[in-house]
Amino acid sequence: MSSDIEIARSVTMKPIGEVATKLGIPDDALDNYGKHIAKVDGEYLKSLKDKPRGKLVLVTAITPTPAGEGKTTTTVGLGDGLNRIGKKAAICLREPSLGPCFGVKGGAAGGGWAQVVPMEAINLHFTGDFHAITSAHNLLSAMIDNHIYWGNELGIDSRRVSWRRAIDMNDRSLREITSSLGGVSNGYPRTDGFDITVASEVMAVFCLATDLADLEARLSRMIVAETRDRKPITCGDIGAAPAMTVLLKDAFSPNLVQTLEGNPAFVHGGPFANIAHGCNSVSATTAALALADIVVTEAGFGADLGAEKFFDIKCRKAGLTPDAAVIVATIRALKMHGGVGKNDLSKENVAALETGFANLARHIENTKKFGVPVVVCVNKFVTDTDAEIEAVIRLTKEKAGVDAVLCTHWGEGSKGTEELANKVVAMLDAPREAPFQPLYPSEMGLLEKVETIAKTLYRASSVAATPAVAKRLAEFEAAGFGHVPVCIAKTQSSFSSDPNMKNAPEGHVLPVREVHLAAGAEFVVAVCGDIMRMPGLPKVPSAMHIKLDENGMIEGLS
Ligand code: ADP
Ligand code: MG
Repeated sequence: MSSDIEIARSVTMKPIGEVATKLGIPDDALDNYGKHIAKVDGEYLKSLKDKPRGKLVLVTAITPTPAGEGKTTTTVGLGDGLNRIGKKAAICLREPSLGPCFGVKGGAAGGGWAQVVPMEAINLHFTGDFHAITSAHNLLSAMIDNHIYWGNELGIDSRRVSWRRAIDMNDRSLREITSSLGGVSNGYPRTDGFDITVASEVMAVFCLATDLADLEARLSRMIVAETRDRKPITCGDIGAAPAMTVLLKDAFSPNLVQTLEGNPAFVHGGPFANIAHGCNSVSATTAALALADIVVTEAGFGADLGAEKFFDIKCRKAGLTPDAAVIVATIRALKMHGGVGKNDLSKENVAALETGFANLARHIENTKKFGVPVVVCVNKFVTDTDAEIEAVIRLTKEKAGVDAVLCTHWGEGSKGTEELANKVVAMLDAPREAPFQPLYPSEMGLLEKVETIAKTLYRASSVAATPAVAKRLAEFEAAGFGHVPVCIAKTQSSFSSDPNMKNAPEGHVLPVREVHLAAGAEFVVAVCGDIMRMPGLPKVPSAMHIKLDENGMIEGLS
């Protein structure tokens, strides 16, 4: 079996102009980054404002194993499958971060015969968007310390600077640092730290902003520090938002690339799925909806987090209507939920699969609560047996009342998603049984929003919020932020906040440790459990295997 990078390299890519033509994008609306990558001009996209929008399909998943269950791979595979059956379809994905790329997980451009290319470029520097976001973030950091240095007119309490620094790397040694050491000319020493770029609020703002003016207004509202009497200081107070917008101007235009089968793919923006909402930019999704009849997109993590945030944050805020959801399930992960240990996942075990099916059933039930029609994609691994495949398809129909389709896109490309593509089209053409609706209304209290998600989707019995958390939420409401959605930061490995509680736990308590207001992104983050804003590297990181071969070609990226 060839590696992802070998497969990616074995295919001859089309010039990007040819891919753009499929969507009717004229050459002069493309800003080319080499032969196979282009940014689509913002002015051109504005001219499409009144065009009818295509249908929006979300790819989400069951509660995953650490390796991932194949959402990105399936988004690519389904996009190709839809094109294969004659539809004008485009996909929208997040840009990969260098942290996981050199850490454990590897790249995020799909896998096997369902990838976006050029995968090396996409996984590494790409069009420099993340570098631009990092620079904009750190410009603000520099301007905050500079403000304090030159007399601190705003009265910033240097112990209460919440705006940290950012870098797109997994580097645990930067989590907590002391800055401005070295004497009078270097400023006032204070504790500080770095977040990975994908955890920056600039990234979330970048992905939720509708245009450059909205981007600047949102950046300006971000809270960066407090005064001694706890008055919030914003990015606008520091005066950094206009210059940050200048740094982000080019990055803000969506990136167009292609799948291995030459179909259009927008890859743009990439916020964390825990402390942020985990989907590609609104600017890319709205562009794709104006240009294609069907748009397939991915939201990070399982449906309890990814789909919920996609619906309650992104769709609500950007006025998007999701038309269907594909839930990716793997037999390996269902067996894991059924109690099978990591080393036995390749052995047939229908009984464990039947037990673990409860996880899939709950994700289906939850997704339907938003009024979105559901189909299940069984992402086939070579170890899956016929009996297991038959069991999961049968159980999905019998117990959850929806169709499950076996898909082999990882091994065979679009041929392996033809049936799924036809099912999705049938769902999109059928009259809707229920309208799309977010889980809770914007007017609901912030704590009640957390409780609604915890009880309805996670099946928790209650939410444990400390008095300090309740007080903070009340302060956000008093400051006029009661109407924003909540963004739950919890483990992706369980419906609960305990990663070891597999399958479909009930009656657990969701502890809310702390809450943060992302005033620019417009959500309140509820931190439930240990959430890392700066990951570390494992003992043997992927970086140890990434190198140039004798011909100058990259080896070891996956
Ligand atoms: P997610 O987006 O859900 O995190 P990905 O699509 O990135 O998952 O897939 C995770 C990893 O699993 C990738 O390395 C991908 O190549 C691999 N993978 C996905 N589907 C299959 C499959 N059917 N068989 C083998 N490997 C797969
Ligand atoms: Mg993914």
